[in-house]
Amino acid sequence: MSKALQTEPLTRRVFAIISHPDAGKTTLTENMLLASGAIHQAGKVAARGEARRTQSDWMKIEQERGISVSSSVMTFEHRGLTFNLLDTPGHEDFSEDTYRTLTAADCAVMVLDVAKGIEPQTLKLFEVCRLRDIPIVTFINKLDREGVDPFDLISEIEDKLALDVVPMQWPAASGRRFKGVVDLRTQKFLAFEKPESGKDHSWMPVGGDSITTHFNDDALLDEFREEAELAREYPDFNEQSFREGHMTPVYFGSALRKFGVLELIDALAELVPPPQPEPAIKAGQNIQIDPTDKEVTGFVFKVQANMDLNHRDRVAFYRMVSGEFKRGMKLKSFDGRSLNVHNPVMFFAQDRELAEEAYAGDVIGIPNHGVLRVGDSLSESGKVKFAGIPNFAPEILRRARLEDPLKAKHLRKALESLAEEGVTQLFKPALGADMIVGAVGSLQIDVMRERIKTEYGLGVQFEVPPYQTARWLTSDDAAKLKYFVDKNTVNMAEDIDGDPVFLAKSAWDIGYAQEKNPDIRFLTTKERR
Ligand code: GDP
Repeated sequence: MSKALQTEPLTRRVFAIISHPDAGKTTLTENMLLASGAIHQAGKVAARGEARRTQSDWMKIEQERGISVSSSVMTFEHRGLTFNLLDTPGHEDFSEDTYRTLTAADCAVMVLDVAKGIEPQTLKLFEVCRLRDIPIVTFINKLDREGVDPFDLISEIEDKLALDVVPMQWPAASGRRFKGVVDLRTQKFLAFEKPESGKDHSWMPVGGDSITTHFNDDALLDEFREEAELAREYPDFNEQSFREGHMTPVYFGSALRKFGVLELIDALAELVPPPQPEPAIKAGQNIQIDPTDKEVTGFVFKVQANMDLNHRDRVAFYRMVSGEFKRGMKLKSFDGRSLNVHNPVMFFAQDRELAEEAYAGDVIGIPNHGVLRVGDSLSESGKVKFAGIPNFAPEILRRARLEDPLKAKHLRKALESLAEEGVTQLFKPALGADMIVGAVGSLQIDVMRERIKTEYGLGVQFEVPPYQTARWLTSDDAAKLKYFVDKNTVNMAEDIDGDPVFLAKSAWDIGYAQEKNPDIRFLTTKERR
């Protein structure tokens, strides 16, 4: 076994940031890239966004609504480790997309605004994390602004998220009186300097003259020391509990003031687990694939189409699970499609580079012409299958109607392409020529309409169809399933993989059909193969 195959996976850290809009995710991302030296000037992350916006009009939605709807990956290095930061979309309509991205992350950083605590979107994203019990590091941001008492914030996290919470640091006040944070393990104090002071933040012992001078307020210092003492009463950090997603360590800082950001990266270096063995199926057997296994294996968690409008290409984001990937290698999907990976891309802060080699924990972009789909397992043998990535039952169904009926073929192609990319789902009813699209949230429909217009030049209306909801059907008894499908043609459709879908007017209809057909399962999620 090559030495690199043994050692490289140990140096990878894959994580994502989850937060409610405005909590500071972009600022934190940018300052992490700055602190690690991956970029040299603030504003680069935003600038990257600008450049992309000029490429594609649908990004207008991002601009107008002030939200980020496309996700990508950014790589940076720190202390000999390679961090892959997966960017999750910040809007609730994209929880499905977020879920897919989180299947590829080994940890999530949950950013909270110190004045707002847990907000609705934090809660939703947290629930998505909980589906996989992914470890969560909490970063409480904007300490340079007046905030909620940290004891109250911690209780709120405990209550609303049902997590054990362990502060790793303790802040001295907030807002104008904010003085810094103490590391509760080392008892060293990181002094916050206001930007106008021109001084750098610096470490000092928690006892001694320097901290007295820094505070310049004895009452405040006494109060802080008392609180920090009380904070030691919280339970000790337990690595196992953290890794199982039951305990979250808490850090404090100000992303905007570059305070506590490097300390957060240091914490991630220590806490985020390196790539772990991944359960898979090979030759009908349940196995665990170790990051150091020789065969290259991994899965596609995101497909982004038309990143460059001049080339109608798509980039599949492939998370490696094992092996030593070399550029030019041939990889096969579980269902027998194969492709030569000549131009795999790695995404550094400002650049894309060709990946000559890659290991477990790396995320490479594989340009292709529609061969790869979200959820695909790709390996050298083509015999390895990871748990699929689920589709969620749509909460919104719309019938696509063309302004120019002669372009039906084009529309079908566009809708299929967007469905394969995972933007929306597509259902073809058994009767008639309608095309029904499904989405978890209405923003997905807006994005789709915009993209069909700019990328395919088609004008489309979306009408409310006579159905409200959809369920995937399975049964252990194929004959019974066929009988049901034949008897209910009016309500039946096929999804993009040709699997049967029951379209219903209401949840009540589904309950009724389920009761009458106990051998058939009406599923709200479907694993993409
Ligand atoms: P996102 O929506 O979570 O990506 O949030 P942004 O990073 O875009 O930040 C939202 C707003 O909060 C921006 O105006 C930031 O400048 C501001 N902000 C972010 N971090 C801090 C911080 O630590 N302190 C203060 N005062 N403002 C911050």
